[in-house]
Amino acid sequence: MKYFVYFLLAFLCFQSQAQDDLNLSYYLPQDISYSQKISTPQDFLGYVPGEWHVSHDALVSYMRTLANESPRISFENRGTTYEGRPLILLVITSEENHQNLEKIRKDHLNLTEPSGGNMNTAEMPVVVYQGFSIHGNEASGSNASLLAAYYLAAGQGKEIEDILTNTVILFDPALNPDGLQRFSNWVNTNKSHNLNPDPQDREFAETWPGGRTNHYWFDMNRDWLPAQLPESRARIETFHKWHPNILTDHHEMGSNATFFFQPGIPSRTHPLTPTMNQDLTREIGSYHAAALDKIGSFYYTEEDYDDFYYGKGSTFPDINGSIGILFEQGSSRGHIQETGNGLLSFPFTIRNQFTTALSTLEAAQNMREKILDFQREFYNNARKTAGSGGYVFGNSTDASSAYHLADILNRQQVEVHQITEDFAQDGTQFKKGTSYFVPKNQKQHRLVEAMFERRTTFQDSLFYDISAWSFPLAFNQDFNENVNMRYAGEKITDLQKPAVPVPGKSEYAYLMEWKDYYTPKALNKILEKNLRARVAMQPLESDNKNFDYGTIMIPVQNQELNSNELFEFIKDVSAEANVEIIPVTTGLTKGLSLGSNQLRALKPQKVAMIVGEGITPYDAGEIWHLFDQRYDMKLTKLDIQNFQRADLSKYTDIILPNTRGGLGKAETEKLRDWIRSGGTLIAYKNTARWLKSNKLMELKFLENEVKPKNVSFEQARDFRGAQGIGGAIFNAKLDRSHPINFGYKDDELALFRDTTIFIKADSTSYNNPIQYTSEPLLAGYISDPNLKLIANTVPFRKSGLGRGNVILFTDNTNFRAFWFGTNKLLMNAIFFGEHM
Ligand SMILES: [Zn+2]
Repeated sequence: MKYFVYFLLAFLCFQSQAQDDLNLSYYLPQDISYSQKISTPQDFLGYVPGEWHVSHDALVSYMRTLANESPRISFENRGTTYEGRPLILLVITSEENHQNLEKIRKDHLNLTEPSGGNMNTAEMPVVVYQGFSIHGNEASGSNASLLAAYYLAAGQGKEIEDILTNTVILFDPALNPDGLQRFSNWVNTNKSHNLNPDPQDREFAETWPGGRTNHYWFDMNRDWLPAQLPESRARIETFHKWHPNILTDHHEMGSNATFFFQPGIPSRTHPLTPTMNQDLTREIGSYHAAALDKIGSFYYTEEDYDDFYYGKGSTFPDINGSIGILFEQGSSRGHIQETGNGLLSFPFTIRNQFTTALSTLEAAQNMREKILDFQREFYNNARKTAGSGGYVFGNSTDASSAYHLADILNRQQVEVHQITEDFAQDGTQFKKGTSYFVPKNQKQHRLVEAMFERRTTFQDSLFYDISAWSFPLAFNQDFNENVNMRYAGEKITDLQKPAVPVPGKSEYAYLMEWKDYYTPKALNKILEKNLRARVAMQPLESDNKNFDYGTIMIPVQNQELNSNELFEFIKDVSAEANVEIIPVTTGLTKGLSLGSNQLRALKPQKVAMIVGEGITPYDAGEIWHLFDQRYDMKLTKLDIQNFQRADLSKYTDIILPNTRGGLGKAETEKLRDWIRSGGTLIAYKNTARWLKSNKLMELKFLENEVKPKNVSFEQARDFRGAQGIGGAIFNAKLDRSHPINFGYKDDELALFRDTTIFIKADSTSYNNPIQYTSEPLLAGYISDPNLKLIANTVPFRKSGLGRGNVILFTDNTNFRAFWFGTNKLLMNAIFFGEHM
């Protein structure tokens, strides 16, 4: 009996290492010795990894200690997160390589250049970027990084020496410091002394918004291409500095799953990714399979996930001559949990991550030459297939949006030029200073193609993420993809924000056109200062200059500041927001006079946003980030938990981001009262159905009623999936005289949508200021039945309720912080909502 118990214990430990007897030997290979000079994670942390979730600060301290103790490791701090945590990187390689690191790096980069043809790859180390836990609540990755770093620092013998000689490891132990810290705090504070695997325990039910995201609730594993967040910017810089050959991305998935490694579903690989990339991924996969077989862990591959959207950590490398690899470990979430596969312990999940981190290095070493040659070939082929001429993008009335797109290209090492002179092509005007030229014949031309293309046909109809991200559309740019090189001016080496003239002084009034991306920032500063300002409901002409719909007028007389103080303040606002503000000398203008009633008084806006359980954190976070980081505007985050106690009368506007099912009855009634007494509700996406059912807005939905024919049970999921819109781009006509569209210079606008809510246009034409065209698809996937439905529907509605207003957007105007082109719609709803 005793033996049986031992046997049983041993078996259980295999799957779910009990904590009492957990020690490093559970993880570390025992056939080598470890240097006594290197602190073990246990020495340093006071526990064996897996007993507790490591906090980010402890993780950083341990990594710093390893770097101090081991000549194999150097330590770099690349910046900070929004919460001020360091974005660290370890470079791990042999001591000898460390002494020549800069030469190794330059030689390695040379492989991607035309001069790299003669490099002898047999004698070059391979470069591997290992990244962990970009989703902070998928913590087995970062916790495994403690062991992997220790193993590489302390391990002795030929095997490990060979790895270190032949490999430069860029080791990023925590891709999401703020999320990891948040999550570790949650699970550690909810851990019981007697580990409780009951999935209903609080330990496994993190509160909103959870540790997956960063400070502003972004999924950072979507930001590798747009690079709008500080964490991404640091790693993109490292990526381009080193051009790693393999980049691994350690995640977790649902608790009932086993372990996944790429390739993903073959039919969903982006067509711009070379076949060889997937072949190499598959070959690398054979090392993971062998390593997991050895420790008895189950896994699967090629049945899930994909390599389509290039903004993910495992896909971004694929368009940069590298190989991105996604790992997904079934999550224990807390310390141990009952699952469909029995008890799943945190140490077990850590061990799988650790094991595949090592099998990655083994594959890299054995396939080194092949992988280095692939990288060289990738760039050789790219150069051969690059077209001639170039792309031009720009926005003649919004220099800031053009600048921000150029900034992304710059961060992605894309060569960008000024244009030589103003010119028109295919009916579009491009102006010097607000337009940029991107030559096709350049090293990064494949990446440029991936960023600029508008794809509307696909091999598969399912996507793990969005199906379109065309940057010229997202930034609302004038764009031409076939421009002669003679318009390519000077190459930009030091990209600067567009210069704005310092305003002159006026004794009469100042005018600010509502065109530049940052005008809401300027207006908010003006209104916050309690200055009087008005918005022009029609175009006007003053001092021989035209001012379009939405121009902001700030009179000089009768303000709280005298004309000198006002002038100084206006200069500050112009400089801080980087927008042009123009002094005028007379109220006698063509079109509207400045004293006209068609210049409507504006009030300071007090905006709140409903957050908390039921609200989509991403959508809410994008709005918070927009206000806080872009426009310097205060936004009260009103938690739904405290909504009933909140005094809503303080707010002019309340934003309700996408929700699972709208608000509860009591909350709805409270909100209705607030609207009726003069508030403006701005609601997004799925809230449309709740608005309708609660009679807050009259809406007619068009429903997709396509029925499956000849669809088998096996195909049912795919059939349903194909009727969704995971994220695609559609064209709408604008009525530019409507305040929701103030600031837009054209009669059309590209919108990003990820819902299937189709709203029938109103029979009164001016109630449809934004309306999809009859053939609206610009880029991305939509099923044929849905494409028929969406034609001529409206993504925006506004209606009155009592003394207040209800505004609805069915599309995401703030998507992932890179849809600069539609951010102004939300600002228009806020500042001009009561004038619509
Ligand atoms: Zn993940």
